[in-house]
Amino acid sequence: MAIAIAGRWWTGRGWPVALFLLLVVPPPAAAQPPQLGHDYLLVGAPTDAQTPVRACPPEALARLDESLLIAAPAGGWSGAPQAVDVFNVFAGEVMIAHGDRRICGNMQDARTRDSRFRAGIGMVMVPRPGDLEPIRVAWETPLKARWIPTLRLGAPSPVQQMDTMRLLVRTACIAIAIALALSALMGFFTTRDRDFLVYTLVTALLVVWQSVLSGLSGYPEPWLPVGGFAPWWLVSASALSIAAMGWVLWRLCGGLQSWPRSRPWVRGFAQLLLVLALVTPLLPWAALVWVAARLDQAFTLVCVLALGAGIAALRRGDYRAVEGIAAVLPLLLMALADIAGRPELLRFRVEAIQLSVTWFLMMYAYGLNRRLGHLRRQRDEMRQLADTDALTGLPNRRAGLRRLERHMHRARKRGLPLSIGFLDIDLFKQINDRFGHEAGDAVLVSVANMLVAAVGEREDVIRMGGEEFLVLLPGARAYLALTRLEHLRAKIARQASALCPDGLAITVSIGLAEMRAQDEDVAALLRRADNAMYRAKRGGRDRVVDADSAAPVLSGALRDGG
Ligand code: GH3
Ligand code: MG
Ligand code: MG
Repeated sequence: MAIAIAGRWWTGRGWPVALFLLLVVPPPAAAQPPQLGHDYLLVGAPTDAQTPVRACPPEALARLDESLLIAAPAGGWSGAPQAVDVFNVFAGEVMIAHGDRRICGNMQDARTRDSRFRAGIGMVMVPRPGDLEPIRVAWETPLKARWIPTLRLGAPSPVQQMDTMRLLVRTACIAIAIALALSALMGFFTTRDRDFLVYTLVTALLVVWQSVLSGLSGYPEPWLPVGGFAPWWLVSASALSIAAMGWVLWRLCGGLQSWPRSRPWVRGFAQLLLVLALVTPLLPWAALVWVAARLDQAFTLVCVLALGAGIAALRRGDYRAVEGIAAVLPLLLMALADIAGRPELLRFRVEAIQLSVTWFLMMYAYGLNRRLGHLRRQRDEMRQLADTDALTGLPNRRAGLRRLERHMHRARKRGLPLSIGFLDIDLFKQINDRFGHEAGDAVLVSVANMLVAAVGEREDVIRMGGEEFLVLLPGARAYLALTRLEHLRAKIARQASALCPDGLAITVSIGLAEMRAQDEDVAALLRRADNAMYRAKRGGRDRVVDADSAAPVLSGALRDGG
């Protein structure tokens, strides 16, 4: 039994929750059980192990073909500690050396770096006062000629704080992307809308891409098997990202609406990039460098085309393209800053790229939700149309029966009475025949308005079809309902007749039924009211007949008169 319930829960909506629990609840620690004190939790133990200082591997030293000497100030170093932090070298070793100290580190494995620096590869040194020896920094030739490193020199504390600030921005961007992806995944589970799944996949791809770019794939330990292949990973992920982002930007900017024929081109471009992403791991370095440069150009072109499509859409009056333009602008700005070599932006290259990608994802999510909201509104409007009678604006038979069922359910649950009146306009065909269909329509609308005014709740008056209406009187016992319906009948007879110029009386016959036994369903209750209405017709029309009363009925005209 319990297994069956658990199984049903798992196959239903439960599995995301279970997966989450599985991820966040850590397995019992095997090696070092934490010591629980009264008001603290001590984890770990005293150790003699020193923080490993990583010597530069000889084969890494051989690859360091770019270097910089940071000269000591005139008169030599003061003796104060100096920090050097090297940012924006996303692949390969960086060496920092001064005196007899020489360290190497790379962004793919945070364990190779000084733990005081997280977004860059850094070192703190204390040159002897008066020492004139320069600090030497060396790195490998970057994948893209413009992707030059940013070096920061200064006192340890501000350099470390800047490093931490960069790390926070990089982490926040990835955290936002993960949150957006999870929210889209939930959106997919609830709506089954394929676009949410596409959003989740695009976001997951951009999370991987950002992780490799920012070095977070190697922090605190490598969790993506990037290793020395970071440039290949990045180019491959870039090709996929450009395919996905190009498609999304083109759509958001209204390119598909403006030029439906662009669809096969966009698809062909995406397929080409997909193939490129697959063959990238096989490329030699020189080809990789070439492909990386072409991808940058392709992305700039995609951004320019998307912006053009967005502007064209705006000029056409399609303001939905605003979110596409908003999404593309920071990306384009970054691409142009790269071409122009603007140092203000390129100093924070990784952070600026990540922030523009995050902005893109937010605009993409906004566009997705707006589209969904639009579809939801359309669906509500269609439902409203399907449930409403066009002539009188009242609920139609379909919607009315649903409402009656709800009333019956509520009345049964709370032990309250419920009465209904089935109303049919007498000799309506004659009105049509004598005054025309339009006059007949006017009578129908006027009767409907009188019913709504008398009942107070528009939803409780239903046009069942033709000249038949149903009035729901929740909370009313039959005797009370009889009085109210009798008033209504008299009022209609008085007021609606004024609509017919040559004095033809407009009267209605009403069958009244109160919900009875617990087992009575909608059809049975309606049947009794309908039968009562036919008894009223047979009795001479213009009257209210209670389904439960066996009393003979008098003509309304007689009663009104006498
Ligand atoms: P009775 O007193 O027995 O109910 O007689 P009746 O003439 O009202 O009954 P019958 O069912 O023969 O006629 C109903 C007429 O209502 C027939 C149809 O043309 C007319 N009708 C149905 N729907 C509409 C409508 O939307 N507008 C107009 N003008 N007439 C309608
Ligand atoms: Mg009828
Ligand atoms: Mg009729």
